Amino acid sequence: MLPLIEVKGLRFTYPDGTPALNGVDFTLYPGETVFLLGPNGSGKTTFVLHLNGLLRGEGLVRVCGLDLRDPRNLPTVRAKVGVLFQDPDDQLFMPTVLEDVAFGPLNFGYPRELAFQKAREALARVGMSHAADRAPYHLSAGEKRRVALAGVLATNPEVLVLDEPTTFLDPPSQRDLLCLLRELHQAKVIVSHDLTLGRALATRALFFSGGKIVAQGSFDEIIHRFGWATVPSQPNGG
Ligand code: ADP
Repeated sequence: MLPLIEVKGLRFTYPDGTPALNGVDFTLYPGETVFLLGPNGSGKTTFVLHLNGLLRGEGLVRVCGLDLRDPRNLPTVRAKVGVLFQDPDDQLFMPTVLEDVAFGPLNFGYPRELAFQKAREALARVGMSHAADRAPYHLSAGEKRRVALAGVLATNPEVLVLDEPTTFLDPPSQRDLLCLLRELHQAKVIVSHDLTLGRALATRALFFSGGKIVAQGSFDEIIHRFGWATVPSQPNGG
């Protein structure tokens, strides 16, 4: 089976001199849902921003066989890898929800009518059709996350990259998102320490430390190995 994403020897240093990735090797195959774990500042977000060329470091990043070192591949790669950012407010900026979701397809050159049709279909997929004419900034955090996800789904990418998708969501919204993600056929790369989400969705987990992948295994193996599965109880038995 051909990999969807291949990364070899990826290194990246921010312009201010902060080293963020120190040689990352990674492969994603169709059908996988890979969770990225690791302490704050270990390079997870920097890594995922390389997967559709939002950042460009040294080393190989290939998406569906297309090498990102060739800038001509960037538009196709952006269509194949949909990224859901940590903060939906980074993604929602049009006057209405429908226009926001149509932005991606329009940007990828879909004719206007088709772009809006894809946007409506994507809104239906995430259960947000009723909000099509609303202003995105009036939505709740959970609704914003759904709309941002619709924006990603509207172009039918082959890979979904989700950075902390359950942050800011209340438990019912977290559960809804989990059910929605489970139904989506795309391969997924998810940055999250959410135990419920990881246990339900992960086919594999990787642990980042100091800008490198230092371990991989099942989600449960990794969280137990690094002691991230348990929260210490309160002194009075609370
Ligand atoms: P994680 O997602 O695991 O929390 P990040 O990829 O955000 O880690 O950060 C990796 C390293 O890069 C950290 O040292 C962080 O402080 C640094 N970093 C992240 N973003 C920037 C930036 N825009 N400019 C400079 N350094 C950054």
